[in-house]
Amino acid sequence: MASVVQRAWRRYRSVAIIYRIAAAFVLGSVVGLVVGEPATNLQPLGDLFVRLLKMVIVPIVVFTLVMAARNLSPKNLGKVGGQVIFLYLLTTGVAIAIGLGVANLIDPGVGLHLKDALAKPAVETKQASGLASVLLNIVPQNPFSAMAEGKILGVIFFALAFGIGLTVVRDEAEEGSDVYNGVQTTFDVVEAGAEVMFKIVWGIMEYGVIGVFALMAALFAQTGPEAILSLFKLFATLAIAIGLQISIVYLLVIVRGLVGHSPMDFVRGGKDAMVTALSIRSSSGTLPVTMSNADENLGIDREVYSFSLPLGATINMDGTAMYLGIAAIFTANVVGTTLTISQQLSILVTALIASVGTAGVPGASIVMMTVVFTQVGLPIQAIAFVLGIDPLLDRMRTMNNITGDLAVTTLVAKWNDAIDFGTGVWADDESIGR
Ligand code: ASP
Repeated sequence: MASVVQRAWRRYRSVAIIYRIAAAFVLGSVVGLVVGEPATNLQPLGDLFVRLLKMVIVPIVVFTLVMAARNLSPKNLGKVGGQVIFLYLLTTGVAIAIGLGVANLIDPGVGLHLKDALAKPAVETKQASGLASVLLNIVPQNPFSAMAEGKILGVIFFALAFGIGLTVVRDEAEEGSDVYNGVQTTFDVVEAGAEVMFKIVWGIMEYGVIGVFALMAALFAQTGPEAILSLFKLFATLAIAIGLQISIVYLLVIVRGLVGHSPMDFVRGGKDAMVTALSIRSSSGTLPVTMSNADENLGIDREVYSFSLPLGATINMDGTAMYLGIAAIFTANVVGTTLTISQQLSILVTALIASVGTAGVPGASIVMMTVVFTQVGLPIQAIAFVLGIDPLLDRMRTMNNITGDLAVTTLVAKWNDAIDFGTGVWADDESIGR
């Protein structure tokens, strides 16, 4: 008997967590629809999941952003590094703007009335504030009270400042000196801290199977089947926004306009990486393929891509950032609030920086969604609602993420004469600009 249970448990654990959550999502939805009102009693089990997620937000932001700063040491950057980082941030900003634009047009969550299913959003009570105050509020007067009060932008600002400060101190210190070693140790501790936090998150996700089941059952008990249409609209919104980002920003503006070569050749050059990203949902996991595409197909010099692609897999997440914005609009629709321009601006800034701190692993956005939602006061419960279709959305995001890395890398390589257009996919391009 014991061994049957053990075997069943092992089998259960061998299925990737996100698929188990997706199954719980479907099951919970069906239970909610069939059972109706009594299923709302499951709500506390779902609330526990939400509390667990909230618990990790601040430490995750601090650890991941201090770590991100480790890679951004001013000394190592140089001209190429500066160009890469500038373009990474710029394309991510554009991606979020496109995502917010499409989401505002489609309003994917409108029509879905969650009534009391989600706690009243804090956004309703927040005063609409002007651009100046959104920007001023990024700087915390006291980093510890920002942490205690969950003022995420303030926490982000302080964590980045602290991380960059560490790299500057390290670069100025003599190698092997106490200060140098101290900074390295601090980074090591932070790296370990980040690892621990991600372990905790995946532990929380194990409970998430129950949590999502409960939240979905309670939710569908109140909403009925129209909720499914909203999820489809969310999927379509992300697909359209990603389509625009890839075709206009990467292919038309960057490859055709600035690099001056055929977008189709670029796609042929990077298609292995794109397909891999679609299949494994991880920018970091795709990295070896992305690098080999850059080298063999796109003819980019190793000096450029060996820096830009690993960095891109860590900090450049256009699809992820765009999704964070879309998910916020979706949730605002669902709880029946309209986000003001300054709140959307605040989402843009938060999503931009949160995406920098997002790890290139499957489902990493989920954690960062808590960060963005907290910043604008949207209910974190809504995350459970989108978790069920995350395996699908994550594929598209990740594909967009690595395509952005490759496009920026190609452009910076062209600017620095570090790409051979006579080789790889470019070699048989008769059409343009060689
Ligand atoms: N899976 C994505 C990546 O690896 C991150 C995310 O959006 O969840 O790039």
